[in-house]
Amino acid sequence: MLHGFLAVVNEYVSNQSAEDVKYKMGQKAKNGGTITRAPVGYLNTIEHIEDRRVRTVIIDPVRGPLIRTAFELYATGEYTLADLADELYERGLRMVRNAKYPERGISPNRLAVAIRDDYYTGWITYEGEKFRGRHKPLISEDVFDRVQDIANSRTQAQELRRVHHHELKGSLFCGSCLRRHGERRRMILSHATNRHGNTYRYFFCTGRYSHTCELPYVPLGRVEEAVEAHYATVRFTPEFTSAMRADLAAMLDEQQSTTKLLHAQLTKQLRELDTKETNLIDLAADGTLPQGKIKARLREITRQRDRLTGRLQDTDQDLSVTAEIIETCLQLLADPQALYQRCDDQQRRRLNQALFEELYIHEEPDGELRVGHQLKEPFDTLHVAQNSGPKPTDGPAAPGSPHAAVRAPKRTQRPPQVGAGAARHQTGTALADGPWKVTGSNELLMVGDTGFEPVTSSV
Ligand SMILES: [Zn+2]
Repeated sequence: MLHGFLAVVNEYVSNQSAEDVKYKMGQKAKNGGTITRAPVGYLNTIEHIEDRRVRTVIIDPVRGPLIRTAFELYATGEYTLADLADELYERGLRMVRNAKYPERGISPNRLAVAIRDDYYTGWITYEGEKFRGRHKPLISEDVFDRVQDIANSRTQAQELRRVHHHELKGSLFCGSCLRRHGERRRMILSHATNRHGNTYRYFFCTGRYSHTCELPYVPLGRVEEAVEAHYATVRFTPEFTSAMRADLAAMLDEQQSTTKLLHAQLTKQLRELDTKETNLIDLAADGTLPQGKIKARLREITRQRDRLTGRLQDTDQDLSVTAEIIETCLQLLADPQALYQRCDDQQRRRLNQALFEELYIHEEPDGELRVGHQLKEPFDTLHVAQNSGPKPTDGPAAPGSPHAAVRAPKRTQRPPQVGAGAARHQTGTALADGPWKVTGSNELLMVGDTGFEPVTSSV
C-alpha cells in the first residue's frame, strides 16, 4: 500500500514542477492545513466531502487524551521529561508500531520536542510564519505557556533525572475546586521541613497558587488512608462478576482457538520448509542445480524459518499476556480493597490507574477527608450503561460497609458516611470493541450504597 502511495506521489511530482508543489503546500499551510505528518496525539486521515477526498487531521482518540495529560502533568512542575515518559508508558501511551519497535513508549527526547510544539494549541508553522490551523487545539494556551516556563527553567540534565513517585501522584485532583468552581485541578505532592528537621509530605491543590482554593494542605498519610478506605466503596454485584467472568472466559477461548489455528498454520509452513530444504539438498547431491543457486535458496529458507519461528513465539506470548490480564481483572472484581491493601507502591499505582481516571479529595467542614472518583474505561462505560438502563433494585449488601469517608485523626467521633464525594461524570465511548465487550449487563455494577452514580454533593 505504501509503495502504491509513493508511486502516486512520484507521478504527481514529476507531472508538476517542484515550484508548483511548493506553492500549493504553502497555500495549504496559510489556510491552516497540515502539510506534514501530524504530531503524536493527532492522526492524518482522509475525509470524504461529497465526492472529494480531503486530507485532514483529527485528534487521536487514544493518544490525544494522553498527550493532554502529558502537558498537564508537566505543567505541575513535578515531572521531569524522563519521569513523564515513564508515567505515560504506564498510562498506556504507545507510539505507532513499526517492525523495529513493536511496543515502545514516547522517549524523553520526543517529549522534549512535543512540549515545545505549538501545533498542539492550534498553530501551523510554515517557513517561520505562524498560521491558525484548521485542526482542533489539544492544549489550552494557558497550560502551554506554563509548560514553556517550566521547560525554560530546566537544563537537559535535570530533565533526564528520574524521581521516585508516590503512587497517588498524577491521579489526584481537588474535589473542593470541582464543587465550588467546577474546575478540575491537580493536587501536587510537596514536602516541608519543620524546625526539628523532620520532613513532612503533603498534598495541595494547584488552585493555591491563585489563592482560589479552599482545600487546606493535606498530610500524605491522611490522603493514603482515605484512598485505601475509598477502595471499600468499589464493589461489583455477583451478577456482574459472573457475567464478566463468563465474557472473559469466552474471549480467552476465542482467542485461543484463533491462536491455535495460527499456530497450526505456522507449524505447517515450517514443515513445508523442511521438505523444500531436503529436496534442495537432494538436488545438490545430484548435481542437477548449480551450487550457487542452491546456496541462495537455502539461505532464503533459513530466513523464512527464522521469521516463522519468531511469529510462533509471539503467538505463545499473546496467550500468556491475555491470561495475565484476565487474572488481574478477576482479582479486581472479587475485592478491590483487599487487592489494594496487598499491593506494593508500584502495584497500587497501577491499580489506581487501571480503575480510576481521576480521584478527587475534599475536606468536610468537620475535617473529614472524602474521596470521589471518575472511573476509567471499561468501568466507566459499564456505569453509563447502568444509568441508561432500569435502576438496579436492591443489590445484595456488600460485605464491609462502603464508607468512603475517613475520620481525621484526633477528631470527635462521628459515624462514617457514605460518600462518593465529588466525582466528575463523563460519558464513555461505547464498549463495542476490544476485549472488554460485555453484553446486556445494565444493572450489574455497583459501588457502595450509591451505585456508580456520581454524587456531586453528599452532605
Ligand atoms: Zn482546589
